[in-house]
Amino acid sequence: MVTTATTDSQPGERCENCNAMTPHHVTLEIITESEEDSNAAFSREPYRVTECQQCGTTSKQRANNL
Ligand SMILES: [Zn+2]
Repeated sequence: MVTTATTDSQPGERCENCNAMTPHHVTLEIITESEEDSNAAFSREPYRVTECQQCGTTSKQRANNL
């Protein structure tokens, strides 16, 4: 798994837990997913991982369109 840290200069994003715009730490992770029904095996999907710097809640979101 490859983790690429981005800069911390991201603007605030909405945190569902805080219910407010808060600073977030944003990283991209490439997660290898296996497909059970296929011998062809693996797809590597980019996920955008955001961590609220206020409460620590993380969320992952597929980022195929990046
Ligand atoms: Zn939060």
